[in-house]
Amino acid sequence: MKMELAHRLENLRPSGIRKIFNLAQSMENAVDLSIGMTDFDVPAPIKQEAKYWMDRGLNQYVATQGLPELRETIAANLRQEGVHFEDLIITSGVTGGYVISLMALINPGDEVLIPDPRFVMYSFVVELLGGIPVFVDTYPDFRLTPERLLPHITKKTKALILNNPNNPTGVVLSPDEIKAIAQVARKFNLFVIADEIYDKFVYDELPLRSIAQDYERTIILRGYAKSWGMSGWRIGYVAASQEIVEYLKMLQHYTYVCAPPFLQKAAIVAEDFDGAQIIARYQRKRDIIYSGLREFLRVEKPQGAFYIYPEAPEKNATHLVEQAIRRKLLMVPGSAFSEKDTHFRISFAASEENLEKGIQILRDLVKNG
Ligand code: PMP
Repeated sequence: MKMELAHRLENLRPSGIRKIFNLAQSMENAVDLSIGMTDFDVPAPIKQEAKYWMDRGLNQYVATQGLPELRETIAANLRQEGVHFEDLIITSGVTGGYVISLMALINPGDEVLIPDPRFVMYSFVVELLGGIPVFVDTYPDFRLTPERLLPHITKKTKALILNNPNNPTGVVLSPDEIKAIAQVARKFNLFVIADEIYDKFVYDELPLRSIAQDYERTIILRGYAKSWGMSGWRIGYVAASQEIVEYLKMLQHYTYVCAPPFLQKAAIVAEDFDGAQIIARYQRKRDIIYSGLREFLRVEKPQGAFYIYPEAPEKNATHLVEQAIRRKLLMVPGSAFSEKDTHFRISFAASEENLEKGIQILRDLVKNG
């Protein structure tokens, strides 16, 4: 690396997902099951609200904490869920919220527990801040338990990143599992950063319990990128203690400044939008992909998000994904998410036709090579 650039760039690598994303742009008629984006446009009432406020001139800076009316709507909805928090800030997506939360918590040398497999950005941001990612293996069922967590806790452990529902595995932890993790966090006085961006995508009427219901040192991250198709709008929020939010306000002021105000207005409509039909459609997609794949692959049934994480034949995901790319099927190998390259991620945020095609190509690959 060129001498004059910062040392923190040394471990920085392009995301394995972006590589496939770029490939998808250049490939015609690909069956793209690689990307973590919903396959529908923003529902009309939400878009109309954004246009209305843009036309009315809500286009300039607003207070970095976000519009009070959006914060009040979110707070009311969180309270209805029984979630503990003192204050909240509207952020530049969950990513923006994650970056400033970590800036507020992590000192160089602090250890951060990250259940593996995990969403790609978590460990990179920890490292940029001089923290040490400590991966907690959750194979083969991808469930985080005290038994799996405890051996990794040291005097330097500062925080746990808990992504529930999970990307890339689709696992949703039960209320009992969440309570058990909260007990461990309490014993060691850890901060829990709870990334709940897929909170709306839970199937089979399972209850989704936020760890914030059981543990006060939780920092909740949620957003609208997935619900409802607003990933390009860059809006999310962080709910935490008053003290933390006070610092997040300053950190955001000096970095992302504020989320776009006319889109914050639209996010108020998004907060109370009834997406039951969308979720029912996604449950159907989950059923199609799971029942198709389980005939010829080892795979856990996803209970949430829109991903499924099967094991590759001979536990070599990169090889399988490369073969699939030659047949115009795009997926992401486990190496993008994990210390292990044994599994691969399929996003079922795609048309049912493409899901069927993808299953067909994979079946053929696995059976005939
Ligand atoms: N967390 C998880 C678990 C995600 O899957 C994603 C998007 N793929 C994000 C955060 C990023 O969210 P945002 O677009 O709101 O920054």
